[in-house]
Amino acid sequence: MFVNLTDVFRDEDKTVTMQIEPETEQVMIGGETFPVTGKKPLHLILSNVGKGEARITGSGEITFLARCSRCLKEVEETLEFQFDRTVFAPDRMASAEESDDQGYMNGYQMDVEDLLYNEIVINWPMKVLCRPDCRGICRQCGQDLNTGTCDCDTFVPDPRMAVIKDIFNGNKEV
Ligand SMILES: [Zn+2]
Ligand SMILES: [Zn+2]
Repeated sequence: MFVNLTDVFRDEDKTVTMQIEPETEQVMIGGETFPVTGKKPLHLILSNVGKGEARITGSGEITFLARCSRCLKEVEETLEFQFDRTVFAPDRMASAEESDDQGYMNGYQMDVEDLLYNEIVINWPMKVLCRPDCRGICRQCGQDLNTGTCDCDTFVPDPRMAVIKDIFNGNKEV
C-alpha cells in the first residue's frame, strides 16, 4: 500500500494520523522464509517538519514462526517495534545529506509494506529460543534434552585441565 506524502511535504504544521493493516504474509530474511501468524495494524503519524521534509513515527507488531536455534522446535516469536524516521521530497533529496535510507520512498509516495519490512529487518532477533533455558538437542543422538536424557558420553574435558595433566605426566617421566 502506498501513502501519498505530497500534502505533508508541502503544508506547514500538517499532521496525518493513520492505521494501516499490513498485507505481509511472510517475511524473507537471509534466504529463509518465516510465515506470519499474527499482526497488528501499523500506527503512523506523518508530520511536516519543514519544506519538503516529513517525520514518520509509528509502531507495529508482528508474530511469525521460526525455529528455536538450539532444539529446532517451531515457535512463535512476536516482534514489537517503534520507529521515528525523517524522509524528504524528491526535490529536496539532492541537498539532504541527513536522510535515512529511503528505500521505501518512491517519489512522493511511501510504500508502507517496504517501510514495515525495513523495520522488521532492523528489529529482527539475533536468535530465537523456544524458552530462555532451552537445553537443545544431543549432538550425538539427536535426543531433545528438554524432554529426556540420553546415554551418550557428552563429557568434554576442560582443555585447561588437560594441559596441567600433560605437564604432570611430563614431569613424572624425567
Ligand atoms: Zn528450544
Ligand atoms: Zn545423545
